[in-house]
This record gives sequence, C-alpha cells and structure tokens, in this order.
Amino acid sequence: MSSLNFCDLRSDTVTKPTEEMYQAMRQAELGDDVLGDDPTVKQLEELAAKIVNKEAALFFPSGTMANTAALLAHNCRLQEVIVEEHSHIMNYENGNISNLAGAVARSLPSNFGEIPLELLKKNIKPTGDDHQLKTAGICLENTHNYYSGAVLTIDYLKRVYDLCRNNNLFLHIDGARIFNASLALKLSVREITEHCSSIMFCLSKGLSAPVGSMLAGDRNFISRAFKFRKILGGGMRQSGLLASCGIVALQSMIDRLDDDHQKARFLAEKISRIPHLKLQTPPLITNIVIFEVGEDLITAEELQKRLEKLNILCFTFGPGRIRFVTHKDQSWQQIEYAAESLRKVMNSL
Ligand SMILES: *Cc1c(COP(=O)(O)O)cnc(C)c1O
Repeated sequence: MSSLNFCDLRSDTVTKPTEEMYQAMRQAELGDDVLGDDPTVKQLEELAAKIVNKEAALFFPSGTMANTAALLAHNCRLQEVIVEEHSHIMNYENGNISNLAGAVARSLPSNFGEIPLELLKKNIKPTGDDHQLKTAGICLENTHNYYSGAVLTIDYLKRVYDLCRNNNLFLHIDGARIFNASLALKLSVREITEHCSSIMFCLSKGLSAPVGSMLAGDRNFISRAFKFRKILGGGMRQSGLLASCGIVALQSMIDRLDDDHQKARFLAEKISRIPHLKLQTPPLITNIVIFEVGEDLITAEELQKRLEKLNILCFTFGPGRIRFVTHKDQSWQQIEYAAESLRKVMNSL
C-alpha cells in the first residue's frame, strides 16, 4: 500500500524487491545449486565472503536456518553455548540451539546486548567433567533486535573474541542487521567481522531481497555448514533466481540503510516528547525504535490496536513494549503520519 495515511512499521522484512532486483532475476544465469552448479549462487557466496572478509560463505533460505546450521557446524552438541537472554537465537528460533544443535543454552543478561566480560568469564567452563558440560562458544547479536537495534562496540567485540580465542571457544555473530551496525559505527563491515569466528546476516531485511541469509566463516566451517544445510532441508535448486536479488542487495542497498536510521531518529525524537511513553535509548540508533507504554492509561496491546485502526502497523514486543522498524518502503510522509497519529492517540486518552 502506498497511500499517505498508512505506515507499516512491523519489520524491515516487509520490504519488496527493487526494480533492479526484478531485472536481475530475469537475467540470472541458473543451475541446480544442490548439484553445485548454479553460477549466480556461487557469485553471491563469493561476494558475501569478500565483503565480510571470511574464507567462504553459504546462501540460506532464512536466518534461522543459517544460525542453526552454524551451531551444528560448530559441533556444540552436548556442550554449552553462551547466549544473551533476549537474543533471537534464545527466544525466536523455537529452541533450535537445543532441539536441533543439541547444545545447552546458557542465557546471560546484558547491557544493550553486551554481556559484561566478568560475567562471561565466570560462566565459561573450559573443560567438562563427569557432571558438567564444557563451554563450546558464545553467540552475540549485532545489531540487537530486543534492545532497539543497539550496536556492539568494536572494543567490546575485540575483548570477547580475545576471550574466546584464549579459551578455545567459537564466537558466532547473529548479524541479521550487521550492515546497520557498520553504518552506525562508520566502519566497514569487515572491521566488525574480523572479531568473530562466524557471522550470519540477512539479505531479506533492510537490504530488501525477497528471501535469504548468508553464513560466513572459514572454509572447513562452511563445508560442514553445507552438509547441515542439506540435512535441514535448505538445499535449493534454481536458487540463483533469489541469489541474484542478494547480489543487488549487497551491491546497491547497503548505503541507503542510512535513510532508515534517519527515519528511526526522527520517530525516536517525536516519541521522546510524548507523555506516558518511555523511549528505550540505545547508545546509537539504527532502524529499530522501542518504547514502553505507561500502562495506567492504555496497554501496549490496546495502543497497537488503536494505531492499526489508523493503518499504522506495528508489533508489541515484550510486556508493555511496542517496536517500530523503519525501512525503504515507508515514505517520509508516512513516517510523519505515524508520529503525528501516535501523538494524537496518546493525547486523546
Ligand atoms: C530476522 C532475524 C533473524 C533471522 O530471521 P529469519 O526470519 O529466519 O530470516 C535472526 N536474528 C535476528 C536478530 C533477526 O532479527
């Protein structure tokens, strides 16, 4: 819908492919990727590996499957993996970390996604014994969905990766929105990904490809992940059709994410002035804005319904919280309409 009195703030996953992507699909050279001969998929995988500066990368149908294959390929069955308590891997992937990858998730609290170093150290068990599982690795989320798209600092990442290497642990980054992090930090993405063993990122979010996520790491890791992708049912055939959109996404959709950040900053600023709403403020704003609703006046669920009646779509996100996500398919007018409508609804209570 492109009407003025409408705004879809549910997720950056709702973004439609661009005209250039449709053209790329038409022109894509295709093969059968399960047989290893789809040249467009190979091209996307090489491009992705190069951008994050890892030895190899693999194209997946979803981020959830890529994270699951990563955990499987890190061989963490019957070991512990440290995760952040509000992370996607912990909360929004149906427990795959345990039910498919066979690990026990040790979930720890954080400050905007950064689990304190001391807490990490206390929870690492370098060896197991007859009763205890040893720690296999750590997963961090960057940007962090639950914490308003908070960005991990490079200094923090470096320290965690040092800790991991000193203890023989892997560090997997759920970087669904890693390009938002790199733009916000004004660093190239490889300056972030040098501090991890493996990284997953999504093509299907702000980058606007219709489907797909990438997993990158060293060659041995990716060849194990290849086997697990097949086991999970993620072997696709003429997937060059989808990969062609991923190539466009990586070649021409990264820099424009800055617009999304500007829209989010605009919304955050407006929300911060509305009484009874408490804006969550991460150190850097990317494309996610979360606020708490002082529930004496209205519940988050009721507010979400009122907004929906005005054609403003969003999700509640944890008790008393509402999440707005910005992306390319919202015009500035629609963003202004959403901010103004939210103010009016709150004023009318
Ligand atoms: C979207 C997302 C994923 C993967 O999601 P899929 O819908 O399975 O592609 C993983 N982690 C985070 C933080 C996400 O936001």
